[in-house]
Amino acid sequence: MNILVINCGSSSLKYQLINSVSEEVLAKGLCERIGIDGMLTYQPEGGEKEKSEIPMPTHTEAIDAVIKALMNEKTGVIKSLSEVGAVGHRVVHGGEKFTSSCIINEESIKAIEECNDLAPLHNPANLIGIRACQHLMPGVPMVAVFDTAFHQTMPEVAYLYGLPYEYYEKYKVRRYGFHGTSHSYVSKRTAEIVGKPYDQMKIIVCHLGNGASISAVNCGKSVDTSMGLTPLEGLVMGTRSGDLDPAILEFVASKENLTLEEITNILNKKSGMLGISGVSSDGRDLEDARDAGNRRAKLALDIFDYRVIKYIGAYAAVMNGVDAIAFTAGIGENNKELRKAVCDNLTYLGVKIDDEKNNVRGEERIISTDDSKVKVLLVPTNEELAIARETLALVK
Ligand code: ADP
Repeated sequence: MNILVINCGSSSLKYQLINSVSEEVLAKGLCERIGIDGMLTYQPEGGEKEKSEIPMPTHTEAIDAVIKALMNEKTGVIKSLSEVGAVGHRVVHGGEKFTSSCIINEESIKAIEECNDLAPLHNPANLIGIRACQHLMPGVPMVAVFDTAFHQTMPEVAYLYGLPYEYYEKYKVRRYGFHGTSHSYVSKRTAEIVGKPYDQMKIIVCHLGNGASISAVNCGKSVDTSMGLTPLEGLVMGTRSGDLDPAILEFVASKENLTLEEITNILNKKSGMLGISGVSSDGRDLEDARDAGNRRAKLALDIFDYRVIKYIGAYAAVMNGVDAIAFTAGIGENNKELRKAVCDNLTYLGVKIDDEKNNVRGEERIISTDDSKVKVLLVPTNEELAIARETLALVK
């Protein structure tokens, strides 16, 4: 069966058509500038990437353009829509309602809508994508795969904040965590590569991309993760501040004459490595600037590493040990200096990195020495494949 995986944002939409038997990506691409003008990128397996301007006033036209590209006589990969057996949708926030993926029907759509105020920028866009697919592909089964679901196994001590309990009761203010599909996929692969039962391992997953989070996965269950009610908490990220003293909000707001909304926007979009360096949010730009002697670019990268080291230490403590540490996502997969700097600070845990094995990009492998007490791995994440697998499991 072919599964169409859709990751729908407010003005963009990423897609992949995956053969669920061979797990091959038959075609992939992206729609951009939805609601503005519209640009489709389409790439069939083994073929060239094509870009075409197609009017996309709404997500329905965007998904229609994707379907037409998939069925295009020359470069298409399917002959008719009947070759799409199911659609898997990435949904950002499942609140406490969703502890796993679910079949999409009117009841689950209503429950997703009820989580909208927890992710006002993301969930409504995800729902628009779901509605557009329902309209264009009636009768094709669809599944929602949530970023938060994997972390729903966290215990109360990990997910409750030190706030009046009534905020949790009234508004469900608590830690949810994100990147769950990636943390689940990477932790499972880690156990497979190491060759030990997943339900007997203590694993720390470092998902380090532009958005970044770390999770503690104990015996196959997420027991803690660095992102919180929203993706703003935890690590210093490309443009997000991560952890800080909450009193800073009022302090800076009063000095700079900013509203709460404005300051939250700064914490999300103008902070993190961009804010510290004043150069860029992108790891590659920062490395170039550092190598050219820019002190603040170096500082931003050092602070990023430092926060990762702190969280690994915290999660090793929470699990009373760690068997494996996995690096994934853009920075985790490509930046060997980061992996080296982090691991060189974990010798107290018995971590020994092998510099030769670590000299690699985006390749699944163990990068610690044979005698390292804790295995360290590079595991490229594959959220689309994980969504396709979840979708298949539910529609079969
Ligand atoms: P997100 O999905 O959160 O947007 P990604 O996982 O794509 O983020 O990661 C983006 C980050 O990964 C950027 O900081 C980028 O510089 C870094 N990155 C991506 N590719 C490379 C590479 N080849 N070398 C170094 N860094 C890279």
